[in-house]
Amino acid sequence: MQQCDPVNCIRGIGEKTAKTFAKLNILTVRDLLHHYPRDYEVFTLPTPIARLREGGVAAIEAGITAYAEVSRQKGLVVVSCNVQDASGTIRLTWFNQAYLKNVLKRGTHYIFRGRVVRKGSTLVMDQPKIYKKEEYRIRLNVLQPVYPLTAGLTNHAMQKAVDQALCLAGFPNDYLPRRIARENKLISQKAAFFEIHFPKSRETMLEARKRIVFDEFFTFAVRLRQRKENRHLEENHYKLSETQECRTFLKSLPYQLTKGQEDALTEIRQDVAGEYVMNRLIQGDVGSGKTVLAEYALLLAATNGCQGCIMAPTEVLARQHYEVMQAAFKPLGVEVMLLAGSMTPKQKKEAYRRIAEHEVDVIVGTHTLIQEKVVYDRLALVVTDEQHRFGVKQRENLAGKGEYVHVLVMSATPIPRTLAIVLYGDLDVSLVKELPAERLPIKNCVVDTTYRPTAFRFIARQVSEGRQAYVICPMVEESEEVEAENVTEYTARLRGELPGSVVVEALHGKMKPADKNERMERFASGEIQVLVSTTVVEVGVNVPNASVMMIEDAERFGLAQLHQLRGRVGRGAHQSYCIFVSGSQDEKAKERLSVMNRSNDGFYIAGEDLKLRGPGDVFGVRQSGELQFELGDIYQDAEVLAAADAAAKSLTKEEYEQVLAVLWQTEPVHKSV
Ligand code: ADP
Ligand code: MG
Repeated sequence: MQQCDPVNCIRGIGEKTAKTFAKLNILTVRDLLHHYPRDYEVFTLPTPIARLREGGVAAIEAGITAYAEVSRQKGLVVVSCNVQDASGTIRLTWFNQAYLKNVLKRGTHYIFRGRVVRKGSTLVMDQPKIYKKEEYRIRLNVLQPVYPLTAGLTNHAMQKAVDQALCLAGFPNDYLPRRIARENKLISQKAAFFEIHFPKSRETMLEARKRIVFDEFFTFAVRLRQRKENRHLEENHYKLSETQECRTFLKSLPYQLTKGQEDALTEIRQDVAGEYVMNRLIQGDVGSGKTVLAEYALLLAATNGCQGCIMAPTEVLARQHYEVMQAAFKPLGVEVMLLAGSMTPKQKKEAYRRIAEHEVDVIVGTHTLIQEKVVYDRLALVVTDEQHRFGVKQRENLAGKGEYVHVLVMSATPIPRTLAIVLYGDLDVSLVKELPAERLPIKNCVVDTTYRPTAFRFIARQVSEGRQAYVICPMVEESEEVEAENVTEYTARLRGELPGSVVVEALHGKMKPADKNERMERFASGEIQVLVSTTVVEVGVNVPNASVMMIEDAERFGLAQLHQLRGRVGRGAHQSYCIFVSGSQDEKAKERLSVMNRSNDGFYIAGEDLKLRGPGDVFGVRQSGELQFELGDIYQDAEVLAAADAAAKSLTKEEYEQVLAVLWQTEPVHKSV
């Protein structure tokens, strides 16, 4: 039997049962071996009847004291009988197993194992399984696998099928270099499969699990390495060199670049002029100044006779990028265009034409950029801003819009290292560590709702000093409708609280894109002084003159989102403030907000978020298919992931090729790579 054979080559699995297995996505023997138990049951020594407790599963060794009785209840045949040991008696019941009447003979002894439940004032055992002493002894203290099942398939049938697959299927030679197995203290692959299904003990089960999880991560990491190497071997067909326009652009900046920005620029410059295509991630906390790096790269492409585009997660942000670049590039003779989702079909058609005919050099947009109808001309560079908002797939789709395209990815969200391996493992990384020098650290406070009047007075004072403020409205889950209403009401109320001269306006998701843009632009130009908003302003938006961020219902947000929201202020030379308003007395909520209070450092917050929330949608990184493995969990098994990644990187050329050769023959464990 081969692992690639269909399941029905296993004895006892016919066409019909095979269909049932197919419902669990088990088509081949290999699939069956990879159908891991979701839990294990342990058969312990029998408990004296007198010591049974309600609710648990237990085994008793007892004798049958009277003939079994058969009755009918609600159309079910119920067999019941009393059993006894030295400590007491208990009643056992079974449903729809009439044949048991002939099995349960008075005077015989068995081991009964089942759930103990309360019926009236007494305990009974429901549906116990019946074992002869010998049968039970074999199972004693052995972990019994409990499988994910589907209708028509019992756990027992699954166990039998897996058992056969294990014994009869051939296991290929272990592909993992011995050195790596030794260094990571891993058992053999074959042993791991036996032990994950039918472990001898808890320890061996854990060892098996570690090996299988390691394999999943290791093969993933090897494929990443392969992808990275292939991409990095992609010859550079668009060698871009610094032009006069690029130098003029840099000279015209009203500030000095930070060391991190300078280094990143150098790396970008070297990448795009080098022998191979660029694949680079710029990682820097909110406000570290990533946009200017994207602008420089786009300018490089444009002034070398190519096109470049930048994809942002929201239209508000795309429009902002557009405005800034339009202003900066126009004087340099570079045409910038916005491809917005809100454009009319006619406008879009015209836009597609202008792109295809290379009337524009730099295209700014959202998902609109990857639509089928968009055909670029000499597309040399794609940039994704706020990459954590997109999937790896979207990044690749954008790159797929051209050939030999340089890829630049920007992300503010500091994520735990393990996540970075999975999401960005195939990219070179530039870290922009420091914030621009003149920035003052944001001052934070966490307050309750009674503080509101004080906060409003504070905002009024800041406005009178020429600053601006954001107020993020209470979060409403039910609907955008209610949310819009909320924002509108809050805005009206705030107008009443603040001096009449202060311009307060609302911004929410229900507004027409054109209205949203208009509000955002008026806020950016300083005409609107206080913007009452939902989280539509969360990502990327840049209004350096804003100095106050007040967040209502702060406890309802994740730390990542709070960090992003706070990142809207502290973007200029002025002292900025973030006011977290919380109505919650919940200790957990308070603890989370105190993290925000303590630190402005995204990496620290990411780490705390991981600790507080545990596995799950940590730090706002979407739980996409990219993070799914069969058994491994990138959070719980973070250490194994890091070890597997290190191992994959440590492979010598020879080892690497051997591993690849084996992987080539087997299906990918991780489907998205
Ligand atoms: P982010 O990294 O969050 O995308 P931005 O690129 O939007 O940050 O930059 C935030 C603000 O900082 C912008 O107003 C930008 O002009 C400004 N900025 C960028 N680099 C510097 C610098 N080296 N010195 C001072 N201000 C800078
Ligand atoms: Mg940004």
